[in-house]
Amino acid sequence: MRAIVFHEEPADLFDVLGWWRLFHAAGLAIVGTRRGRIDLDDVGGIVAAVSSLSLAPLEDSVMVKAASTPAVGYIRMSSDKQEASPARQRSEIVKLAEHGGYRIIAWYEDHGLTGTQSLNRPEFQRLLKDAAEGTFKAILLFEQSRFSREDPFDAMLHWRLLRAAGVKLVACHGGELAFDNMGGLITAIVSQQGAHDESVKISARVVSGLRKKLDDGHRPFGRSVFALDRELYDESGELVRVVSFRDRFEKPRGWRHAFVPSAEAEAVDAIRWAFEATACDGLSASEIARDFNRRGLKTATGGRFAAEAVRYILTNPAYVGSTRVFNKYNPGKFHRVADDGPLLFDETHVGFVDRATFDVVQALFDRRAGSVRPRRHAYILRGLLVCGHCNRRMRGHGTCGPKANRSSRRYSCVHDEYQRSDCPKPRVDARGLERFVLSVIQDRVFCDENRERLRTGALEAANEKNSESPEARQLRELRHKIERGTQNLALAESDDDFAAVSKLLAAWREDEQLLLKRLMRGTSRRPAPAELVEAIEGMAAAREHLDEAAPGHLVAMFAQLIARITIRRRNIYSRAFKLEGEMVFHSEVCSEPVVPFTDADVTPSTRWREVASFISDAGQSVTRRDIEEALGIGTDAVNNALRLACRRGLVTKGGPTNRRFRYSAAALR
Ligand SMILES: [Zn+2]
Repeated sequence: MRAIVFHEEPADLFDVLGWWRLFHAAGLAIVGTRRGRIDLDDVGGIVAAVSSLSLAPLEDSVMVKAASTPAVGYIRMSSDKQEASPARQRSEIVKLAEHGGYRIIAWYEDHGLTGTQSLNRPEFQRLLKDAAEGTFKAILLFEQSRFSREDPFDAMLHWRLLRAAGVKLVACHGGELAFDNMGGLITAIVSQQGAHDESVKISARVVSGLRKKLDDGHRPFGRSVFALDRELYDESGELVRVVSFRDRFEKPRGWRHAFVPSAEAEAVDAIRWAFEATACDGLSASEIARDFNRRGLKTATGGRFAAEAVRYILTNPAYVGSTRVFNKYNPGKFHRVADDGPLLFDETHVGFVDRATFDVVQALFDRRAGSVRPRRHAYILRGLLVCGHCNRRMRGHGTCGPKANRSSRRYSCVHDEYQRSDCPKPRVDARGLERFVLSVIQDRVFCDENRERLRTGALEAANEKNSESPEARQLRELRHKIERGTQNLALAESDDDFAAVSKLLAAWREDEQLLLKRLMRGTSRRPAPAELVEAIEGMAAAREHLDEAAPGHLVAMFAQLIARITIRRRNIYSRAFKLEGEMVFHSEVCSEPVVPFTDADVTPSTRWREVASFISDAGQSVTRRDIEEALGIGTDAVNNALRLACRRGLVTKGGPTNRRFRYSAAALR
């Protein structure tokens, strides 16, 4: 026999190699039905044979056999632009399925997600779950790193699961990874290490590149920093000019810059003060913003300061001479260099705030970050309001924009908006209703009577919980000791032991009598825990500051107290309508759980009296602008007040002058 001809079928790479070696050693030529002669004499031949085994598309005869293998496709793309697009991955996988005889029964896709954190990939998790159920036998991928970029040891956790389910990974680039044999596993580990190294390499490259850029005086990210000017140097290192942080100036390529404290001393002082006021006096960002605005300080773009802008300033390490990059930090790809949070490079320039103060401020902000942040448009009664006509929930809504928080928020029955319905769709001003609800809670729930009830209830509960007084517990323990002591007495081996134990027992018995006597008097009652008393006393303070509470807290409190608030519309004969309704507490909250109210209760308080008396004092007709400026109130509030004052006959509207209406006191006419 000179040669062995074999019919090519899919077989395990290592199994086949074993056979080949055997035949080769026997001096036989090996000829495949498709591949022809396989030359195992030199390395090149072996490599060609091996790679043809693992990479060559399985051919006709094989396809017929494997055509029914159910498989799924998994596509992942992180935010890296260099990776193959999902569409390309998909088309490659479809090709792979055609060649390999797989039937794709489902697709799983994770977009914009890094491969180093598999827990954060929802589709990936679903894939693993479905794999365990055994509905498919292969996962088709573009390349192995799509499945995971994790460390091989982390990736092995997934592989074990796949092996148990009899599922293999097949990549368009890199071939098949089977986990049920040693060869497959070794291949998988080696290529997994490659996929992982690549992610580490990418991150290391990015970080060292950044550091170099910063050292060279380039600022690759971010905007100008408030109160830090830029000294610009040209290619020869010559100082060309200093650009204020207020100026927009695009630095020519090749120039470098250095941050220096601004020439605008006022801004620098303001920042220094802000850090100190936060660190020492605990001022909040909004308080500082208010102070800045009062001083007339403008932001770099010339606007007013908002709390958010101040918070941004006070957390910016640029003021201590460090540079932070990747503010919007995306965990995963760079996990090796920055476990959490942005990258920070120290001493990139000279700062003007000392490190200790800065650290204190950061600690304060970290602590505050945990508290509930108030929302601008928090409809705190949501879920509680019911339309009295159609029994549906009423929704809070308003217009967006700067005027929205003044007066345009309301709760309405807005169901079937575009359909005819019998419901007259009541609506109610949100602010007025919210104030009313809060005042009712102040009067009925946080009242002195309730506080007293709560205090006695708490005392009783505290005593019940500790019904076993300390003395009773001591007695119980003592009796247990005596019992054991008596046993020891019986077991005592020497006279000395006997004497010692009986002496101890006598002392314990004495104590027992004493305790019993004290218990008989029955005087020991435990006081309520101090925190509870304090909390109840705190109710008085809470009552005063209820309307300043964070919306989130209020919503939680309402859910505890209020069962529902019903709103009805009556006198439905014109556009002018009146409201009535009732607020219902949970029965255990207060003795009279139903609180009826009318229009007058929930109308927002307006400043019509103030506006009317201003107009009357002016002694002449005024415009709305005059009122706004004199009283310092917003347009909406002025309009509202004028409408009410007109309706009450205190103010009359005159003709338009310069396109503005003028208003005068009724007495002036
Ligand atoms: Zn309705």
